[in-house]
Amino acid sequence: MMQGENNMTLRFDARSVNEGFARVAVAAFIAGLNPTLDEVADVKTAVSEAVTNAIIHGYDDPDEQVELSCMVAGREIFIEVADTGRGIEDVKAAMEPFFTTRPDLERSGMGFAFMEAFMDEVTVESVKGRGTRVRMHKKIGVQEG
Ligand code: ATP
Ligand code: MG
Repeated sequence: MMQGENNMTLRFDARSVNEGFARVAVAAFIAGLNPTLDEVADVKTAVSEAVTNAIIHGYDDPDEQVELSCMVAGREIFIEVADTGRGIEDVKAAMEPFFTTRPDLERSGMGFAFMEAFMDEVTVESVKGRGTRVRMHKKIGVQEG
């Protein structure tokens, strides 16, 4: 384990109500880094988008489980959101702004675009019928612009 490293993993039901829990949990976990309010808001939005995707796109059954892991190492935050659900047919297409398979749910197809805008890097691994894993990281305390 590298110095200053800290890890946590949560598992929760794939229910919409848990999206709020997940983003607050991550915000609390990273509080020790003294992030700015903007940085906390960015991370919470990204977590919220990834967790919402797992809940609404990954699964039909709310008893299924979403796994959220977070690691802090130095000033870097690493977050993983994983489901073992439906999987994504074409990850590259899914990550394009405005791409959605659920216009019926009034989704706008901006979730991955927000994750990419608010985090330094986002990578998505997905296997059709097996599930999806979203990895994101962000360095805290870096001046933008
Ligand atoms: P929005 O996030 O704006 O409400 P959206 O969820 O459709 O709309 P994205 O979050 O960008 O948009 O996701 C794009 C598409 O990728 C989704 O419509 C869905 O088809 C697919 N997708 C994303 N996450 C998952 C997942 N965990 N499991 C299965 N499919 C997913
Ligand atoms: Mg989404």
